[in-house]
Amino acid sequence: MQKVDTTFTNAFVLTMDETMTQFSPGAVAVKGDSIAAVGMDEDITREFIADDTIDCGGKVLMPGLINAHTHVPMTLLRGLADDLRLDVWLMGYMMPVEREFVSPEFVRLGTLLACAEQIRSGVTTFNDMYYFEEHVAQAAADAGVRAVCGQTVMKFPAPDAASYEDSLQMAREFIERWKDHPLIVPAVAPHAPYTCTAEILRATAELAREFDVPLHTHLSETAFEVENMRNEQGIPVIPYVKKQGVLEAKVIAAHCVHVDTGEIRTLMHAHAGIAHNPSSNLKLASGFAPVMKMLEAGLNVGIGTDGPASNNDLDMFEEVRLAAFIAKAVTNDPTSLPASQALLMATRLGARALHIGHLTGSVEAGKRADLILVDVSPLHNAPSFKRAADNAYAQIVYASKSTDVTDVMVNGKWLMRDRQLLTLQEDELLAQANEIAKKIDAFLIEREQSVLSKLIALGGSLEQESFEVQGKVKIADPSPILQTLKRREIEIVRKRHYHEHDVYFFFDDPSQGRLRYREDDFIDDVKGIVTNVRARLTLIGIKREGKFEEVLLSRSRYIAPASQSLRFYREYFKPWSEIVIEKDRLRWLINYKNTEFFVNLDQMKEPQLGYYLEVKSRTWSRKDAEYKAQLTNELLNLLSASSGETVTEDYIDIVSEA
Ligand SMILES: [Zn+2]
Repeated sequence: MQKVDTTFTNAFVLTMDETMTQFSPGAVAVKGDSIAAVGMDEDITREFIADDTIDCGGKVLMPGLINAHTHVPMTLLRGLADDLRLDVWLMGYMMPVEREFVSPEFVRLGTLLACAEQIRSGVTTFNDMYYFEEHVAQAAADAGVRAVCGQTVMKFPAPDAASYEDSLQMAREFIERWKDHPLIVPAVAPHAPYTCTAEILRATAELAREFDVPLHTHLSETAFEVENMRNEQGIPVIPYVKKQGVLEAKVIAAHCVHVDTGEIRTLMHAHAGIAHNPSSNLKLASGFAPVMKMLEAGLNVGIGTDGPASNNDLDMFEEVRLAAFIAKAVTNDPTSLPASQALLMATRLGARALHIGHLTGSVEAGKRADLILVDVSPLHNAPSFKRAADNAYAQIVYASKSTDVTDVMVNGKWLMRDRQLLTLQEDELLAQANEIAKKIDAFLIEREQSVLSKLIALGGSLEQESFEVQGKVKIADPSPILQTLKRREIEIVRKRHYHEHDVYFFFDDPSQGRLRYREDDFIDDVKGIVTNVRARLTLIGIKREGKFEEVLLSRSRYIAPASQSLRFYREYFKPWSEIVIEKDRLRWLINYKNTEFFVNLDQMKEPQLGYYLEVKSRTWSRKDAEYKAQLTNELLNLLSASSGETVTEDYIDIVSEA
């Protein structure tokens, strides 16, 4: 008789091993952190004597589930913003709130909540990516859950790092500290190709290789992402990341929704692990990952919940069922992804996708004791058929619920006994979560009251201009203007030609000002081609000082590069109405009486309003502004003398009144 710590007897054991062995009645012996043996009940009880013998009463004993992709601290953001497109959701809500609230304490609390939820639903390993990942790792270790923890690196300032260099350094130190931990596998997580630069991808891949740790990233999640990559780089996402050396690391690629056969082959050759996220892909309408093709190619495809803000739970039972259902629906074939294979994705294949298949994912001697008991006696999954091996998998995948999990052991240590959590205090955690939710609510309520604060919340550079001095004249014929510009007192510094496509957003409260999304297509008149396209966002405040003579004096303007699409801004700012204006613009930067002015000659194309001449100058000092207003007026008179027209209201006012 060998002495062990614990034996599980009288169980229905689904080992999920290479041959999908089942033992009924089966038993498992656990010694220290590992499984000593698994077999028929009579064999195990004959060979092993244990300090603690658990009579499983016919429950299913199986490997704990592997959540192959998540962002666990986002439990605290669950239900914050839903039914939005990925970019609006991420850039408009998640990232601004995260910049404001995410701290080591936030991350710890969110992780502990997630661990409680995951233990209850039979998850014994999760693969995470977030900020302050050190604190995710510590909280998971304290809760006793196994985790691959990826420190986020990206090109934007993050809650835990002002720059990418900072976050890369954090990732390095994090990996060094946690490299040999029994429960935690540290990793580096370049967020996604579209939130990283090529340099970041290369540097993170090198870091992952240096320490032989996983590299966790989001790849080919949306068609939009792939389309942008094709436009910018001329290749799809997988070849692009391969070019940056990413596939030389132990990659865990979340999503891979929009990958073709060649890309699947590339991922296969790189031994990349894939995390399929059915709920997230459905909820964000990202598309349907070619799961059957990836499995047929031999890829290790695991299943993940994704973050609880885009799911909105961490229930792997639901994910496994959805994975099976979706695979059947999209292939129009009910034999696709049978229950046994779906469950395999959430166990052994999932562990391999995380590059920890040697540690966990199946009930086999030598692997860590990451075990769960599932009660299959409740009404919704009774009765139990034993005729075929597949009956057991079908029962777990199609009928069982996460609440049927009664007992959880990770690394040989009990985390839940008879539905009682042993390492976490749910009540305390929930009370703290509700406190944070109140603060986030207040923050968003205040932000949503002002267009400017919503603009600021998007982050990125924002410059304010003020005391704008500008005058505008409607003219019938532009040719005298061109003649006037040749006068000696006017020195031309620079000339440009472009098409401007403006969309003005108006809000029901006019004091919010108006927001202009402008796309400039720069034209090379010699070659007759568009040489550059620039998109900018300008929040134009209401006129504060009216007119000085005939020239505007003061109006606040905030300018930011428009890094998102027009559709993004429309969905984010929810304007009350819109006006589109298209014009062909000739712009001169001139020097007149030692002051620089912009002279714009606009041909209004949409709506067709003819020609406008605009002269503008900017200054910060009011005293200066008066002088420049006089000059602007003088210049306008000079330029428009031949047209006989007078200074007019802004054409946008004319259009909006019409
Ligand atoms: Zn994700």
